[in-house]
Amino acid sequence: MSRGDMAKPLLGHGSTEGDPSLTPASGRTIGVLGSGDFARSLAIRLVCSGFKVVVGSRNPKRKASLFPSAAEVTFQAEAVKKTDVIFVAVFREHYSTLCDLADVLAGKILVDVSNNTEINHHKESNAEYLASLFPACTVVKGFNVVSAWTLQSGARDGNKQVLICSNNQEAKRTVAEIAQVMGFTPVDMGCLSSASEIENIPLRLLPAWKIPIFLALGLFLCFFTYNLIRQVIHPFIREQKNKFYKIPIEVVNTTLPCVSYVMLSLVYLPGVLAACSQLYYGTKYRRFPDWLDQWLQHRKQIGLLSFFCAALHAVYSLCLPMRRSHRYLLIETAVKQAMEKKMNIWVEEEVWRMEIYISVGIIALGLLSLLAITSLPSIANSLNWREFSFIQSSLGFTALVVSTLHTLTYGWSRAFDENQYKFYLPPTYTLTLLVPCTVIIARVIFSLPCIRHRLLRIRRGWEKGRYVKFVLPSATGEYSSGETSSNV
Ligand code: NAP
Repeated sequence: MSRGDMAKPLLGHGSTEGDPSLTPASGRTIGVLGSGDFARSLAIRLVCSGFKVVVGSRNPKRKASLFPSAAEVTFQAEAVKKTDVIFVAVFREHYSTLCDLADVLAGKILVDVSNNTEINHHKESNAEYLASLFPACTVVKGFNVVSAWTLQSGARDGNKQVLICSNNQEAKRTVAEIAQVMGFTPVDMGCLSSASEIENIPLRLLPAWKIPIFLALGLFLCFFTYNLIRQVIHPFIREQKNKFYKIPIEVVNTTLPCVSYVMLSLVYLPGVLAACSQLYYGTKYRRFPDWLDQWLQHRKQIGLLSFFCAALHAVYSLCLPMRRSHRYLLIETAVKQAMEKKMNIWVEEEVWRMEIYISVGIIALGLLSLLAITSLPSIANSLNWREFSFIQSSLGFTALVVSTLHTLTYGWSRAFDENQYKFYLPPTYTLTLLVPCTVIIARVIFSLPCIRHRLLRIRRGWEKGRYVKFVLPSATGEYSSGETSSNV
């Protein structure tokens, strides 16, 4: 990141004009204890946001050249004296070495930016530990969820949220103002007891992805085993043919579309179940069971994994003709046909099946890409609710229908060919059709006017068996009111 990029404040004095709440924050002096990566990035961002910065280091002479010239780098005690708000950019293990500064720090705001190396590493959070070492100070937890890189590159390119907590409202407001002037969005997380939760956030590994990833892996394993039995084990046992070479590409490539297709249908299945529940109970105010709630919340990740598998399937399919095995088999077939003096090998039905199969596959992948792109927060935020729901719901459902066509044209009449039932196991694609077809049929039923109308009314707040007030025009044109059951 060049210094030039940092030269322009994100929200300098100019941008805070007309917003008196921000005026006291920008322009004030902020202290930073420590001269490491985070302290340096913090100092640069603070300077660029219009603050005066004083850095406290154990060795200011050596560290001064690392900071922008506008920032003053001095000894820790000197720095602390010059400001009321101090960012403590040192590791927890070194907090006790700051105890000599207790007198000069008294009455000041300490911002604890530290993180741990493990979730719930210590019994008490770092911020609470700092507060216990400096009881005369007010400790605010914050800025630990942004990295030094995000601070340097500006809030535009990284996570914009800064989670803040403290037992002192005034101190929290001051730190929130500073965060806002720096271009971040402060989020009030309450009292200092929330600090452990905030400290755990940067350490969590894809919490929203765990269930969808396990689901995808589970489906992959099931379909892979099924395909392995049909494509490799069956010919080996029944015909003593060695088809193990198929495992790395062919078996994987027949597994990926199955996972992608079923995962896509699992994005829309919870919506169908939710609609069934609403229709059955005649209300939208009844809570869904927890498992359905969880499922509804994970739809985005399930959809993205479906897209990932579909994209891999496309790449694998493009690479199929590159394989040596494919070339050998092609030449073998050509030689066989030449020996049998077969000149016309064109099968019109097969040609059409393949053309349609590939074409709908490409369309399905295109639609899935669109869904994936619009689920990115930066794109989703630029869409209004109607646009977002049109793409995610209507186009998503269209993708499911097109994928079903892709699967059906792949299978064609093979479901009725008894040779396809290896060890009495039906072809894999017939199994994958089960959930998607259920979803499609349910959506078609929900679109019938009588059901659609009832569902719409429920979603607007109508409840079965509840009495509602109504207003009717009388014969004289005046309005009379009364009560009736909304059921009638
Ligand atoms: P760092 O590069 O190792 O810097 C730590 C600084 O602490 C040193 O430069 C040192 O500055 C100072 N310090 C004060 N007393 C010390 C002592 N007794 N022994 C050693 N150093 C002492 O670490 P960092 O990456 O800047 O991280 C600083 C804090 O920010 C940590 O609590 C970390 O969890 C938090 N944080 C970092 C990031 C990040 O992206 N790096 C992100 C979020 C939070 P002087 O030698 O000048 O005194």
